[in-house]
Amino acid sequence: MAVVESRNPTRPAEVLGVFPAATADDVDRAVRAAGEAQRVWALVPAPARAEMIEECGRLLGEHKAELATLVAREVGKIAAEAGGDVQEAIDMAGFVAGLGRAAWGEVAPSELGNKVCWTTRQPVGVVGVISPWNFPIAIPSWKVFPALLAGNAVLLKPSELAPCCAAAFLTACRDAGIPSDLFQLVHGRGDVGALIAQHPGIRAVSFTGSVPTGRSVAATSAETGPRLVSLELGGKNAMVVLPDADLDLVTDGALFGAFGTAGQRCTSTSRLIVHQEVADEVVSRVAGRAAKLALGDPLDPGTDVGPVITAAAAVRIEGMVAAAVADGAVLALGGHRATVEGCDGGSFFPPTILTNVGARDRIAQQEVFGPVLSVIPVASSDEAIDVVNATEFGLSAAVYTRDIATALSAVDRIDTGIVYVNAPTIGAEIHLPFGGTRHTGNGFRDAGRRGLEQFSEVKTVYIDYSGRLQRAQIDNRPALDGLDSRESG
Ligand code: NDP
Repeated sequence: MAVVESRNPTRPAEVLGVFPAATADDVDRAVRAAGEAQRVWALVPAPARAEMIEECGRLLGEHKAELATLVAREVGKIAAEAGGDVQEAIDMAGFVAGLGRAAWGEVAPSELGNKVCWTTRQPVGVVGVISPWNFPIAIPSWKVFPALLAGNAVLLKPSELAPCCAAAFLTACRDAGIPSDLFQLVHGRGDVGALIAQHPGIRAVSFTGSVPTGRSVAATSAETGPRLVSLELGGKNAMVVLPDADLDLVTDGALFGAFGTAGQRCTSTSRLIVHQEVADEVVSRVAGRAAKLALGDPLDPGTDVGPVITAAAAVRIEGMVAAAVADGAVLALGGHRATVEGCDGGSFFPPTILTNVGARDRIAQQEVFGPVLSVIPVASSDEAIDVVNATEFGLSAAVYTRDIATALSAVDRIDTGIVYVNAPTIGAEIHLPFGGTRHTGNGFRDAGRRGLEQFSEVKTVYIDYSGRLQRAQIDNRPALDGLDSRESG
């Protein structure tokens, strides 16, 4: 029997859990049972569904410390960031529960008399969720809670690298009373994800992961699978630093944006697009501070940067840095895999800074997904914006300047789903839409009120209480009997 084995990236000899990998029959059975559960769930009023989601949030909160420890052990996030991952799910539960009593549509006047029109949203049925490893509690919550609130059943396939966190999330939902057939988990690798994407019983698939995998999910689902396919994919996020910026703020933001979570957030800062007037000063400040960041066990309170997710990821990152140097970049810091005492076999990669990077170089175009910051000098704010927009990705960007007109003009012209001013490229809040333009996505958004859209269909309703046939576009002139229609005066 094929299995998925979860290992601690800090000490890979430590196995955290072993789960059977689902077969095609398992997926089939799960989809069928979910379909039956969904028909019952769809009849439960939304405020009652919301109460259960609220309870999920309460239980996640009650177990926050142990869940955060699990996140740190399974994916290597340092304690504060692991706690943030869990907190995001708690916040999402609260926000989604609130939507259970919010308006889901709009009312519009009819062009005919004695007729009313409104829109509402209806569930799609069984939703497939395919999630990455890097927010192992938060991302399932972004998808599972709104999907359930909208009246759907959910089948979740987490990354093979984070099955324990997904199992813990499922336990909290079960304990909150979410029926077992309504929200199910299947484990496995990409082939199990593909089974979900092509299953005719799955009516919507919500995917977060890399661009290549997202493209594969879109292609697979186009054959026999769901009609609604939401894709939240990679990024090549840029921080722009203009000469008038507060350089203390810039340094703090660059460190957190580039090296927080060991650079493994979809919104991590990977390009520092800095005006040449301040480039040397900024690089010197950021490199000076980055050199002091402590690599180590994420559960050690002294650690600033934990391991990257696997040894293979560390090798890949090292290869990308070497290729960048071959392309002409200069290694200002880091660049080679590291070892940490007491963390045998841990996949550590230190904060790395490359200077002299060209906007079109491979390292400036490809997602690294590791603690690597490429510095691209520019001569003007116009050039900076052109460079921000010169990749296939469009997730997050940041602009540092004290000039309000420059900031707002940059906000207008940057082609990304998220823009920050004087704050790093990471830091999204759950009640606002999250997602990107261009190849980062396909137009849907996670989170915020718009998070519901990928899990529901709009239904437009017309009620005619005139008691006669009224024809839109034909009978839409009001009868003004009794009113004097002659011009006055
Ligand atoms: P992957 O694309 O490698 O995997 C994502 C999920 O897809 C995993 O569950 C994976 O399973 C599964 N999968 C793999 N192949 C297939 C397939 N052919 N069909 C269906 N499913 C498949 O991403 P990572 O887990 O490595 O996550 C990192 C990526 O996610 C980065 O590119 C990052 O930018 C992006 N991301 C985007 C976010 C956004 O909102 N825009 C947020 C967070 C991350 P398995 O792991 O078992 O192979």
